[in-house]
Amino acid sequence: MKNFMRGLAFWILIFMAGVFLWQQLGQQKKIVDLPYSSLKQLISAERVSDIIIRNNMITGTYLDDKKTPVDFRTVPVSDPELVKDLETHNIKFSGEPEKNMWSNFLWYFGPVILLVVFWLFMMRQMQAGGKQAMSFGRSRARRQDGSGKQKITFKDVAGVDEVKEELEEIISFLKNPKKFQKLGGKIPKGVLLYGAPGTGKTLLAKAIAGEAGVPFFSSSGSEFVEMFVGVGASRVRDLFEQGKRSAPCLLFIDELDAVGRHRGAGIGGGHDEREQTLNQLLVEMDGFDTKEGVILIAATNRPDVLDPALLRPGRFDRHISVASPDLKGREEILNVHTRSVKLAKEVDLNIIARRTPGFVGADLANLVNEAALLAARKEKESVQMDDLEEAIDRVIAGPQRKSRLISDREKRIIAYHESGHALIAKLIPGSDPVHKVSIIPRGPALGYTLQLPLEDKYLTGKNEIIDKMTVLLGGRVAEQLIIGEATTGAHNDLGKATDLAHKMVREYGMSDKLGPMTFQKREEEIFLGRDIAREKVYSEKTAELIDGEEKALIDQCLARAQKLLKDNVDKLNLLANKLIEREVLEGDEVELVLSGQALPPMIETPVPAKAEEAPVKVEAVKEGTKSEKPKNKQA
Ligand code: ADP
Ligand code: ZN
Repeated sequence: MKNFMRGLAFWILIFMAGVFLWQQLGQQKKIVDLPYSSLKQLISAERVSDIIIRNNMITGTYLDDKKTPVDFRTVPVSDPELVKDLETHNIKFSGEPEKNMWSNFLWYFGPVILLVVFWLFMMRQMQAGGKQAMSFGRSRARRQDGSGKQKITFKDVAGVDEVKEELEEIISFLKNPKKFQKLGGKIPKGVLLYGAPGTGKTLLAKAIAGEAGVPFFSSSGSEFVEMFVGVGASRVRDLFEQGKRSAPCLLFIDELDAVGRHRGAGIGGGHDEREQTLNQLLVEMDGFDTKEGVILIAATNRPDVLDPALLRPGRFDRHISVASPDLKGREEILNVHTRSVKLAKEVDLNIIARRTPGFVGADLANLVNEAALLAARKEKESVQMDDLEEAIDRVIAGPQRKSRLISDREKRIIAYHESGHALIAKLIPGSDPVHKVSIIPRGPALGYTLQLPLEDKYLTGKNEIIDKMTVLLGGRVAEQLIIGEATTGAHNDLGKATDLAHKMVREYGMSDKLGPMTFQKREEEIFLGRDIAREKVYSEKTAELIDGEEKALIDQCLARAQKLLKDNVDKLNLLANKLIEREVLEGDEVELVLSGQALPPMIETPVPAKAEEAPVKVEAVKEGTKSEKPKNKQA
């Protein structure tokens, strides 16, 4: 069928070309070349019947000696008299835009050619897309070759040494599949990388391909989820076919959870497009053999929602966690990303690493980039420490909004709000040191208070959470105490505090009344697309109890914050007034203000803070934004 159609198209083209040539040649036969002087004579003799004047050619008809019309052509010379002559002898003449053989050809046949080309293109698409018309069913996988200039290797991935070790084996397999088969080694078909967004999962997959020197096909789970039923499945099929054609190679599926969610879930349930796609994925994974040298790597940040069938042996049976980097890892990542950046000599990346707990690789890459841009904007020769410091703030809270106008009344409210947070943090022994308080708007936040833990934390105690909630409520309590009413600025704090209370009661088993049990939130279950039947894990009575316990926790923290601020209202005033004056207070300045000492005069450009000062930043108490991701780990 395909060949027949193609052949037909070919013959149509040949036919058209033939017709055209015949016309051209037929015309040319009768044309006589006239010298210009002869033309002038003929005009004077009034033997020319009509004439067409073009830029580079004059054509027309004249009557020869026997009075029979003859077509002629003449190369024109620059002759301003010509038109006058023609007029005096009353000869019909006209001009015409230039035309050559090719433009003639295109003029007559252009549309037909376009149609034929388009039609051929469609035919090809149909063939390639399997049963799907056009390109709907084709995988959108982007191919990157594991060689070439911008090849990514393990050198570009830092801070994930354990992961690299685990992946070593896959690289040596891809490099030489035959060797492995001879020894009967069993290679995992699929590797699942899971971890928070931006931890470098995609980068790792690319690096594997780069190290092994094999092609890399990347696609994203969300590309497989389309409006039309069957399209996703067809794309999966196509991806695997592509892989088999280019073996040995590496297929990468980002956001596996977009296709790989638990089946039989979601409202409406039953067969939907996603389910078909997932089934196709399972079929393909069973159908191919690692002997072919194709390895599938997928990434997700929600391994918990994946369908268990995906994780069974023979499918994604190797699970590797890509964790957020620790201090050493962060420093290494900073080193990687500053390789191509000109750093000032005084820059100590260790300090930056210590200030950025909770930052993932993508944040750090972003930080370095921001710092370079800042330095360039200030027309510096190299990136200095204060650029990097400023970049940290930017990455956390977005750029400073200098232009935003804030009324004095609002400024006062924000200052009291932030002072409330900061003062409570200072008053509660053992809470994370206050690193910075600012009422300069940044990103969506109107002000912020940065508290920096002294080290990375993986476990948090009950009292610590209660302290944190008290600090969070401090902003609103201060507003109420001084201004007399609450404002909308605190909604983000309240959201965080409520969330902590939820988690304490439902997840961490920290409620005395309910005991050490977990109670998953219902909405979450449905959202994840799990079995709705499992929804009701506790009784109505327990639900009431949970609500009561959560409320009690909040009330307890609120009362505590109120008492703390009431008892220290003078300090609150002191701090807020200083904040209105200075807009930003560093941790040590807060200390000075609270102990009633005078602050050193303001310096224009702040000197970069030193290493021994609060080493890290995290957990910005920001106002008016919901969209930031938690930067600290809680267990
Ligand atoms: P994920 O796929 O986990 O969401 P990516 O691999 O897309 O994350 O990471 C985004 C970017 O962040 C990378 O292109 C890289 O510049 C940077 N990055 C992330 N992790 C690392 C790391 N471990 N080492 C170096 N750079 C990293
Ligand atoms: Zn606040």
